Amino acid sequence: MVIVMGREATQDDVDSIVSVVQAAGVEAFVSRGVQRTIVGLVGDVTQLDATGLRGMQGVRDVMRVSTPYKLVSRENHPDRSVVRVGGVPIGPDTVTLIAGPCAVETPEQTLDAARMAQEAGATLLRGGAYKPRTSPYAFQGLGEAGLRILADVRAETGLPIVTEVVDAHDVDLVASYADMLQVGTRNAQNFALLQAVGAAGKPVMLKRGMNATIEEWLMAAEYIAQRGNLDIVLCERGIRTFETATRNTLDVSAVPTAQRLSHLPVIIDPSHSGGRRDLVLPLTRAAIAVGADGVIIDVHPQPELALCDGPQALVREDLGALAQVLRDLPPLLGKTAASAVSV
Ligand code: PEP
Ligand code: MN
Repeated sequence: MVIVMGREATQDDVDSIVSVVQAAGVEAFVSRGVQRTIVGLVGDVTQLDATGLRGMQGVRDVMRVSTPYKLVSRENHPDRSVVRVGGVPIGPDTVTLIAGPCAVETPEQTLDAARMAQEAGATLLRGGAYKPRTSPYAFQGLGEAGLRILADVRAETGLPIVTEVVDAHDVDLVASYADMLQVGTRNAQNFALLQAVGAAGKPVMLKRGMNATIEEWLMAAEYIAQRGNLDIVLCERGIRTFETATRNTLDVSAVPTAQRLSHLPVIIDPSHSGGRRDLVLPLTRAAIAVGADGVIIDVHPQPELALCDGPQALVREDLGALAQVLRDLPPLLGKTAASAVSV
């Protein structure tokens, strides 16, 4: 059982709940988030009166949930959620395009990529300042200097920023610049990082671990939610299979499956899944057709010079076709391109 406290709940309200729960012989774990406090109950909860708890001061919701992920489950939250990033919606009524360079390299490259993203209809800018690279010799990102470039480009273009954080110690710094924190596939089960982003007070995009089941992915999201942050967007970015013709295998069935199991929005990354420029548009069409709530796509003004993932970045010539896909396909699914929704 999980008790979600309202934003207005006081420490006394939380203490009263804990005493009632403990009196029934059940353990209470209190997670204080920036936005909400959550009390998780462990033990035999059959003696607890959920209606009575619901009536206590400061309580917003009491959930009895059978799944191992409780807060992100759709079981007690039948409506699908909308997560807003700097005012931009990601959710069931829209298809949101997040685009930008894989990595922030220079101010000019980042601004050029942001303009390309806008030309394609993006309403959010992606770009990594901290890069989780497989090789320790590969470009690791510009760090805080990269975050400053992103902030300048946001000021110039008005695009809110989605950027990755790879280490729990950097969460506060990255959150002070970012509009949305990204947790990448290599950190998808870094539980200390998940807890830290859960406490940072910013929306989070959680990529699926490349070897994670959908249940493991949702439990990773639960780590974030448990810290009081329910502004989570799930991102399917391809999983490891025996196939070597593509960088990863895009699991399109993960989208409707995760949407059935969880109320969180689900988006697709066609760039990191296919790993090849020529696959990005077909996979974007597949993403929209399967009901994804958005796509996150790499674009680069000069991919041949890119310090990271050049072969999968869309170039200027691709932008018209991407814009057209984003304009034409969402209405067939009863959705609107987020760029057409006023924020
Ligand atoms: C990225 O989006 O820059 C990235 C590193 O993606 P992933 O974690 O999916 O590999
Ligand atoms: Mn990349």
